[in-house]
Amino acid sequence: MSSLFRHIPSVDRLLQLVESEKEVSGLPRPLVKELVNAFLDKCREAIRQGRMTAEEELEPGRLKQDLLIYIKEKSRPRFRRVINATGVVVHTNLGRSLLAESAIEAVESACRYYSNLEFNLETGKRGSRYSLVEELLCSLTGAEAGLVVNNNAAAVLLMLDTLAKKREVIVSRGQLVEIGGSFRIPDVMAKSGAVLKEVGATNRTHLYDYEQAITEQTAALLRVHTSNYRIVGFQKEVPLKDLAALGERYELPVLEDLGSGNLHRFSGIYGFDEPTVDSVLRGGAAVVTFSGDKLLGGPQAGIILGQDKYIQKIKKNPLNRALRIDKMTLAGLEATLRLYLDSDLARREIPTLEMIGLDPKTLKARASQLAARMKKELGERFEVSTRADASRVGGGASPEVDLKTWLVCLRPRQELSRDRLRRSLLRTDPPLVGRVEQDCFCLDPRTLRKGEPALVVDVFRQALSVESEE
Ligand SMILES: *Cc1c(COP(=O)(O)O)cnc(C)c1O
Repeated sequence: MSSLFRHIPSVDRLLQLVESEKEVSGLPRPLVKELVNAFLDKCREAIRQGRMTAEEELEPGRLKQDLLIYIKEKSRPRFRRVINATGVVVHTNLGRSLLAESAIEAVESACRYYSNLEFNLETGKRGSRYSLVEELLCSLTGAEAGLVVNNNAAAVLLMLDTLAKKREVIVSRGQLVEIGGSFRIPDVMAKSGAVLKEVGATNRTHLYDYEQAITEQTAALLRVHTSNYRIVGFQKEVPLKDLAALGERYELPVLEDLGSGNLHRFSGIYGFDEPTVDSVLRGGAAVVTFSGDKLLGGPQAGIILGQDKYIQKIKKNPLNRALRIDKMTLAGLEATLRLYLDSDLARREIPTLEMIGLDPKTLKARASQLAARMKKELGERFEVSTRADASRVGGGASPEVDLKTWLVCLRPRQELSRDRLRRSLLRTDPPLVGRVEQDCFCLDPRTLRKGEPALVVDVFRQALSVESEE
């Protein structure tokens, strides 16, 4: 074994060998050197563990191919494009919403050129970044005023910190939501300094529960949209208009964490009942908050809308500065909101709305096309079929809504397991995330973007070539 170690090539020798290869030529030299060193460490490890036993295996020419693959894998950016074949439109782990083309252009321009981010072009003096989207948000929702922060978690924090610090906020036990990424209403409330006053039971809360809890200490009544779950069966929540009437009697604002922030009237999608922002404001909520990158289909942002007297207070909260929205987001958000001025345009151009709105006939045709392609190219490895199934909206919106779709199902012919395939597909370029169901690996065409069906065939080839080497 020790004699084998003597045959390990030097770092310089290997560097020389790979330097001019296309995988390597664009990379910083110190990085390549580091990777060659790490690769040689792996060789030493392989010798120690008896996985490398012959002198020839250590010849530079033999090592070269593996080294190139190693360098390529390790030098890739960590933040990468992924093919989403899950059919979950607002996929929390895969970047939530994709932006409309006009929003992408606006972001690009904000990055490339100087802008009037905080400069008033009418007066030539300092301006406010918040004024850039406020008018648009108000005209789309009927709100009196509004502002935008980093994300909805920040929006809720800021709202409570401003309007309820050291005082009590009454919330129904059925609405003490936890969403992914450890956002929990009780915890956010604690951080804001507001005191949570839970009322009712998990499944049922009545108007009198709220009323009995009101004291001198009460600052607001809070409603939280149960975005990612539904309580069904023997259940009751107080309708917004009743709560608003109660709030009015006691001069308490009703605050609503809407979660998804739906600006679009979806019709014809069975069971789709996400309340729209304007209906919640009209229903009597004094302040609402929601995300920019869930159903709205824009960039990550937290939007706060409502009555002027509350919004003005929120704007003056120093915490606001720490939670402020950046210029790229603001540019993308404005462009997205502008599309909503024409509902048809919004449905066509905003990817989130477009994908949710895809009809089963189109999806069936896309699934058949993709299946035919897969059969032709990979038919010897998989049994390919299509079947009707459901996609999900995701992002914690309308959790029980089935969007009718058609899946392409791949059943491996050989002993290749679905799980091995799933893992191999995470290592392709770009990686692909699909669904493993029963004994099939399934692709939902709903979330495949332009040009991706062709790419799917390619990444399957890559995955299979890794499989056959192993
Ligand atoms: C998603 C969600 C949040 C958090 O929003 P982010 O934009 O992810 O910060 C808060 N409340 C509810 C009800 C949600 O659905």
